Amino acid sequence: MQQVQDVLNALSEKYPNEKEFHQSVTEVFEDVIPFIDGNDDIQNFNILERLSEPDRIIQFRVTWQNQKGDIEVNRGWRVQYNNALGPYKGGLRFHPSVKLDTLKFLGFEQTFKNALTGLNMGGGKGGADFNPKGRSDADVMSFCQAFMMELYRHIGPNTDVPAGDIGVGAREIGYMFGAYKKITGRFEGVLTGKNPISGGSLIRKEATGYGTVYFLENALHHAGDNLHNKRCIISGAGNVALYTAEKLIQKGAKVISLSDSKGSLYIKEGLTQEQLVEIITEKEINRGSLNQYHEQQNVGEYRAGQEPWDIEADIAVPAATQNEIDAAEAQSLAKNGVKWVAEAANMPTTAKGVKALKEGGVVLLPAKAVNAGGVSVSGLEMAQNSQYLSWTSEEVDQKLKDIMQNIHDNCVEHSLAKTGIDYAQGANIAGFKKVVDAMKAYGTL
Ligand code: NDP
Repeated sequence: MQQVQDVLNALSEKYPNEKEFHQSVTEVFEDVIPFIDGNDDIQNFNILERLSEPDRIIQFRVTWQNQKGDIEVNRGWRVQYNNALGPYKGGLRFHPSVKLDTLKFLGFEQTFKNALTGLNMGGGKGGADFNPKGRSDADVMSFCQAFMMELYRHIGPNTDVPAGDIGVGAREIGYMFGAYKKITGRFEGVLTGKNPISGGSLIRKEATGYGTVYFLENALHHAGDNLHNKRCIISGAGNVALYTAEKLIQKGAKVISLSDSKGSLYIKEGLTQEQLVEIITEKEINRGSLNQYHEQQNVGEYRAGQEPWDIEADIAVPAATQNEIDAAEAQSLAKNGVKWVAEAANMPTTAKGVKALKEGGVVLLPAKAVNAGGVSVSGLEMAQNSQYLSWTSEEVDQKLKDIMQNIHDNCVEHSLAKTGIDYAQGANIAGFKKVVDAMKAYGTL
């Protein structure tokens, strides 16, 4: 369609090096063509061009002193992508690979994901090229404090509410919230993923992983199937991967692989709950690796430097980072019996990967629907903070289940596939429609 092509061409010309951003915009805009077709308002309100520019990008220098006394400099960003539906909301990523391109793609994705949750949240993303790995707690604290010295003036409970992402967990959120409180003198819901003792929601830590499994379960039920005894391969061994694994085991599925940045662990018979608790301790508390866990406990087969996509399985859950599954990995998944890919990470599948999965008969459950459980419970955390109350785990978990079911049903309702369900297109159309309706109501601003 010419309208879409024109906007995508202009984007390539303006930002020739922003490949990930271009990839995510292309994926959404191409999927929503049937909705745009015949809908003159999209052109009249110039919606596509407006949606392909973030509302605001804030970039800053973070200068901080490490424990040895050296002064270090990092780059920090906050991309306030779109607040048509509520305050900007989305995680902070601390990883050496972080660059503006990545944060723009993540902010764009987040805008539509947040729309799908049905909660009042706009989209944003931020982070820094700081690597917390291998750093002492004192170094991480100094960095987080210096980062917040800049960020605090741009965020607020009704403006922009960041959360965690890769490299930003409860420890980092704690240091940043402490710094915000100290600088402003205000104890308010400005970050989510806080420790429950400081106003964090119960189940927030587990929410993205649990939500992934709830979505997957809904999709399997819709196809007349269930999770029992399904062999699942998961990439990553961080927040999302570990709590996806926990819920899968609780649901009677077999988690036969996890991975981290150094390699993967293959456990043919499936991880037990006890082994998973040991791994959570190794990764979350000791900040160790799967290899160290394997060497200490002699569990499974350790595959140095290898991803899990060549292992025979029924379900694959990429839960590490973007662009993990390209055409070759997708073909390998299909060849090894995988029938479902649930994207728990953001944009883990390339465009070629998506095509190869389709050709191999694998159903793709897209990230913006599958992993929306995390931001949903963040939204619930904001609601609890604004009322100065805390809901029980059961209450939060039930709300999370309901939200994931609604997102699933919304994807099914908006899929235009003639056979089966095109979950990716369903999610894109449903999210896009909501954001567009809100933007139209505001006029040209
Ligand atoms: P974590 O930092 O907790 O874990 C990331 C995991 O992936 C780690 O095991 C890490 O290895 C591995 N990893 C990271 N980058 C790479 C890479 N380039 N190559 C190989 N392995 C890698 O992050 P999260 O679990 O929070 O996030 C994972 C994904 O889920 C991201 O795409 C994130 O955007 C998405 N997401 C997260 C949400 C959340 O609530 N946290 C919400 C929605 C989406 P190692 O252990 O060796 O560091």
